This record gives sequence, C-alpha cells and structure tokens, in this order.
Amino acid sequence: MEDTIHQENRLLRRKLENLLRQARTNEKKQGLFDSFGFEIIGSNSPAQLCDYLLVQMQVRFHLQEVILCIVDEGNDTDRLFFGHDDDARRIFQNKLFILNPEKQSNELKSLPGFPVLGEQILSDYSWLLNNQPCDDCKSAALLPLLRADKITGALLLISGDANRYQASHGTEFLQRLSAMTAVAIENCLNQQRIKEIGYQDALTQAYNRRYFDLRIKDEIERSLRLDHDLACMFIDVDYFKNVNDTYGHHIGDLVLMRMVSMIKEQVRACDIVARYGGEEFVIALPGTSIKVASEIAERLRTVISAEKHSFYGKDLSITVSIGMTSLRSVDMQTFGKTEDLSALLLERADNALYRAKNNGRNKVVICESNEES
Ligand code: GH3
Ligand code: MG
Ligand code: MG
Repeated sequence: MEDTIHQENRLLRRKLENLLRQARTNEKKQGLFDSFGFEIIGSNSPAQLCDYLLVQMQVRFHLQEVILCIVDEGNDTDRLFFGHDDDARRIFQNKLFILNPEKQSNELKSLPGFPVLGEQILSDYSWLLNNQPCDDCKSAALLPLLRADKITGALLLISGDANRYQASHGTEFLQRLSAMTAVAIENCLNQQRIKEIGYQDALTQAYNRRYFDLRIKDEIERSLRLDHDLACMFIDVDYFKNVNDTYGHHIGDLVLMRMVSMIKEQVRACDIVARYGGEEFVIALPGTSIKVASEIAERLRTVISAEKHSFYGKDLSITVSIGMTSLRSVDMQTFGKTEDLSALLLERADNALYRAKNNGRNKVVICESNEES
C-alpha cells in the first residue's frame, strides 16, 4: 500500500518537474520572441528591418531560411525598401518577395489568414522560394502578417529539422512574433513614405532640391570610387514668365508637370530628376559620359520644341535651354580635396545654361573643361 503511494508521489513529482521545466522553457522562449519583436518594432530604416528579419532572425532562431512576403498595395515597396541601393536589392532578392496584388492575385489568395505549420508548406508555397529546390529545408511555418484583418504579407520560417514545425504544434509565440513583424513593417514603410514626401516637389512629383543636393554627393563619391563618369544638366524653360502672363498660372503649373514627364521619358529610371527652382530642373546621370548625355539633352530639347503642347484647348510652343557638364571634365589634379565637387559641377552646368540663354535659347551648351567654366 505504502509502496503504491510512494510510486504515485514519485510519478506526480516527475510530472510536476516536467511541467515546471516546460513552463521555464516557455518563459524563456517568450522572452526571446518578445525582446526580438520589440527590437524589430524599433527599426528605423528598411535596411535595419531587413537585417533583423532576414538575417538576424535566421541566426538567432537557428533557422535554415527566412522569407518575407509583402503585399505591395502602394506599388512602392521595392522603392521604399531599396531606393537606389542595388547592392541591397541583390542581396535580399531571394529573401524578400514583393507580391503584386493585381498580377499575382492567385498567390495572394493562397496566403492563409492563420499560421500553418508542417512540411507540406514547402511544396504548397514553393513560389515563395522562387521554385528553387531546397534539400536542407525540412519543415516550415507560414505566418500571415495581418493589419486590421487584412493580409499584408507573410513570414516563412524554414527549419532544417523536420520536427521543428509540425501541424500539431501550438502557434502562440509565432503569432505574437508575426503580429509584431506586421506592425514593424507598416511603421517602417510609413516612416519611409514620410521621408520621401520631404524629398519631393509637391507640384511635379520630381525630387526637390534638398534631395538632389544630398544625392549628388553620394553619386559623386560612388562615381569616383568606381571610376565612372557622371553627367549633370540644368534645364530651364524659355520665357516661362510669358506662359504665366499669357495663359495664367494654372497652365504654367501644367507646363511644369508636363516638362517633368517629358524629361523622365528621355532618361533612365536610375537618373535623378529634380526641380531645382521655379522652372528650372536638374538631372544627374550616373555612369553617363558627356557625349551620351549631350545626345539625351539634344533629343529632349528637340521633342519639347517639336511638340504642340495643348492645355484646355490652348496650344503652346515650349522650348528649353540646357546647360551641362560631367565629372570627367574636372581636372582632379588641380581640384582641392576639401573643395565641394558637387557645387563645382552645378556651377559649371549653370554657367553653360547661362550661355545657352545668351546664345538665343532652345540650345544645349556643354561645359567640357576647366577653362570653360
Ligand atoms: P528665361 O528664358 O530667361 O528663363 O525667362 P523666364 O521667363 O523663363 O525666366 P524668369 O526667371 O524671368 O521667370 C520665371 C517665372 O517662373 C517667374 C515665376 O513666376 C514662374 N514660376 C516659378 N515657379 C512657378 C510655379 O510653381 N508655377 C508657375 N506657374 N510659375 C512659376
Ligand atoms: Mg526660364
Ligand atoms: Mg529660370
């Protein structure tokens, strides 16, 4: 009799110890998940968020792979995440899946509204892995990212351990983590959008001068490092005051908007088009020689002057003057290191523009060497 009681006691004690051990492990796990969740919510840039979600998460949680899928509602996720940083875009291209809700509606529909665990996910959602086979991927958890009951994306955690994620496992921790991830992504993208507004000209949606002045410095540094040329051009609408005086300020505004769209049609997406002042625009063309840039400028000048611009039934002729220069035109031997190379480039392009105006307008003028500035 006593023996049986002892045996039962031992059994109960062991059960209790197991439960305590489990509770301690869970507490530790929850702490780990929560502190990581708070760290990602604190990310202040997309680059930092990518680092937390796509690099650190993999290491800290001993995962084979982490893939983040974001539903690109605003068609701006790629730009907001990577901007002009092609290196980052390349590094994360297999880890960040930007889902176009119109073009990839079937994929969007297939995303679950609740966490799904198991091996099957790897084949059911192979598109998240770019349909690439992964021999070391043994089990996975697909966690929806939800904001106000709407699916904004998904987080795919892949383990090399077949037992790590099984359909029968609880998902409380993973749900907390994905909820925090969804908030972190939304915060980060919104912060980035606000930053962009500060860099944008409200009328034309081109970049503003503040942005250009920052970017040109980066581009100059990059060009010097890679030994690439960088062309820079100023474009000024001829006799624009007459447009306002004759047709009114509103049509003047429409002309400025039209100028930006025509400029953008002639340059590459990686060129930086900014409104520098009233009716003056500046463009930086990385990796472009003065010869190629002058062909672009000439083409732009021609299409603008050839087009019959029509606004509210009023036909207008518009011409522009363009002044340009490039980094290679600067004699680096004589150029002092402390001098501002961006200011010099802009000054030269502006001087060339001044000459284009004096030479009768509707002209492209190049400043090619030190003597000409
Ligand atoms: P030039 O050929 O020498 O460049 O002559 P211009 O008339 O184009 O140059 P000027 O500098 O005399 O006039 C520029 C005009 O641009 C004056 C200003 O009212 C107008 N402007 C500046 N910003 C805006 C704007 O946002 N909208 C409109 N509609 N006009 C603007
Ligand atoms: Mg003008
Ligand atoms: Mg002007």
